[in-house]
Amino acid sequence: MPIIEFLTDWRAILQIVILFLLVYLAMYHLRNTHGSLVMGGLLMFIGSLWFLAQTLDLDVISRLLEMVLGSLFLMLMIIFQPELRRALARLGSFAIWENRRRRELINEVINAMLNMSKRKCGAIVVIECKVRLQTLIDDAIMLDAKVNALMLESIFYPNSPLHDGAVIIRDDRIVAARAILPLSGSESISKQLGTRHRAALGISEESDAVTVMVSEESGSISIGHDGKLHRDLSLAELHKMLDKLIVQKDAGELDETIQELNDTDLNEETSTNENGGEA
Ligand code: ATP
Ligand code: MG
Repeated sequence: MPIIEFLTDWRAILQIVILFLLVYLAMYHLRNTHGSLVMGGLLMFIGSLWFLAQTLDLDVISRLLEMVLGSLFLMLMIIFQPELRRALARLGSFAIWENRRRRELINEVINAMLNMSKRKCGAIVVIECKVRLQTLIDDAIMLDAKVNALMLESIFYPNSPLHDGAVIIRDDRIVAARAILPLSGSESISKQLGTRHRAALGISEESDAVTVMVSEESGSISIGHDGKLHRDLSLAELHKMLDKLIVQKDAGELDETIQELNDTDLNEETSTNENGGEA
C-alpha cells in the first residue's frame, strides 16, 4: 500500500476513534440529565416528522427539517447549557495538572524537612497561598528556582549565606530566601520557643500561607497555618496536613462553585415552573 494511502487511512481511523470517545463520554456524562430527556423527546419528534415527510413527500416540511438540523449544534449547546457550564467550571480549575504539580511540591518539601530534621538543621519554608507575600519577597534575596529538596537543604545548610531567615515558595518555585517574617505577639505560645517558631506563627496570623519549619534544637517539624502552630508532627501527620492544605486546597472551592451553579439552575427551574403555572 502506498505510504500516502496508509497515512489517510491512519488519520481516518484516528478521527473515528476520537469521535467515538467524545460521543461516548458525552453520552455517559449526560445520561439521566434534564437535557438528555429533552434531547430524547426532540429526536423522537424530529425523527417521526422526517419519516412522515419522506413517505408522504412533504417538501416544505423536509426543507424546514433540513434547516433545523443545520442548527443542531446550537440546539445542543442550549439544551445542555447547565451541564456545559458545570463541565467548563471543572475544566477551568485545571484540577488534574495542578494537583500533580502540588503533589510534587509537597514531596520535595517533605523530603527536605525529614533530612534536615535528622541533622537538626534549622529551617523555615513559607508556601504562599492566595494572599500575596510580595513585600516580604521584595525585602528578601529574590530567587527563581523550581522547588527541589536538595536546593532547600543547601539553602539552610549551617553557615551558608542564605540559611538565615525564611524561604518563600510561590506555585512550585522558590522565589525568596533570607525573608524576615512578622513575629507573633501571641501569649499562648510556649516561652521556650524562640523566634523561628514565632515567625512561623506570625505569618500564619497575617496571611493564609502554610509554613513548615524544622527546629534546630529538637529537630521536630511544625506547621504554622491559620493562626495555629501544629508542633512535633510525625511523617504521616506532615503528609496529611500538607496534602489537605496545599494539594486539596481548591477542592472545597470547586465544590462550592458547582453547588452555586446547581442552585442557580434549580432557582431558574422553579421560577419557570411558577411562571408556567400562572400562565
Ligand atoms: P529552634 O528550635 O530552631 O532553635 P526557635 O524558635 O528557638 O527555633 P531561634 O532559636 O530564635 O528560634 O532561631 C533563630 C533562627 O530563626 C534565626 O537564625 C533565623 O534563621 C530564624 N528566624 C528568626 N526570626 C525570624 C524571622 N522573623 N523570620 C524568619 N526567620 C527567622
Ligand atoms: Mg532556639
